[in-house]
Amino acid sequence: MNTGFTEPAKKHLGQNFLHEKGVIEKIVQAIDPRPGDVLVEIGPGQGALTFPLLKRHGEITAIEFDRDLHAPLQAAAREHGTLHLIEGDVLGVDFTALAAQRGDTSGQIRLVGNLPYNLSSPILFHALDHAAAIRDMHFMLQKEVVERMAAGPGSKVYGRLSVMLQAYCAVTPLFVVPPGAFRPAPKVDSAVVRLLPKPAERIEVRDRAVFANVVRAAFGQRRKTLRNALNGVADAAAIEAAGLRADARAEQVEVAGFVRLANLLLGA
Ligand code: SAM
Repeated sequence: MNTGFTEPAKKHLGQNFLHEKGVIEKIVQAIDPRPGDVLVEIGPGQGALTFPLLKRHGEITAIEFDRDLHAPLQAAAREHGTLHLIEGDVLGVDFTALAAQRGDTSGQIRLVGNLPYNLSSPILFHALDHAAAIRDMHFMLQKEVVERMAAGPGSKVYGRLSVMLQAYCAVTPLFVVPPGAFRPAPKVDSAVVRLLPKPAERIEVRDRAVFANVVRAAFGQRRKTLRNALNGVADAAAIEAAGLRADARAEQVEVAGFVRLANLLLGA
């Protein structure tokens, strides 16, 4: 069958196209689109998720960077439903503006995507910047990244990504996907994860930039004690006033501890 998708996969754009039907179905089931939902897909590629979602839901907005995919995506989408294709870099898309323009009755969008793995963290942080406009997110990522996102204190993979995401979202790993489900097959296992942004009233971080700075410094030198790693950001008195031990290491501190410290640095 000529699908119109003739270009070979581009490694520099993280193109590993999903072909395993069972996996695609599981992702669509996990997303479970309901009438009125506004779906926004990052990186539709050759439409592995886009077309089944379109068939089920009738309408989707998708953001694709690769110009060679735009015309075939538009052409193939026509038989399934309405595709609003944003041609460009997802990191340049203002999700808050998009939700205000096209969102559901509460002004929100639902983000989905099998992400380009080379851009996973920037895309996650970009989405966090717009968390209030996002009802939920379902992403396929490297399994190891999903483990980092969901990790808790004491785990070797607990770090900046875990703390930043968990301060703003509930993170739920859903299932693992083996390399053979993709063409070309990536070298690593993948996993699907659900992120549920917390409602504004449940977010305890008072200042995003201060919080981000504390977490970055604490994990910047993760073998050091908090007292040393936070040198210039928070002194031992502040660390202890936040209920933390100045000789603890970042990987032992729970998310709420970083939040208390960042809030305390802001003063009364
Ligand atoms: N969703 C398709 C699938 O499951 O088969 C493709 C997934 S592939 C892992 C990632 C997709 O993201 C590719 O189509 C790639 O071109 C696209 N992409 C890469 N960088 C991007 C960017 N900065 N903005 C938007 N899309 C991007």
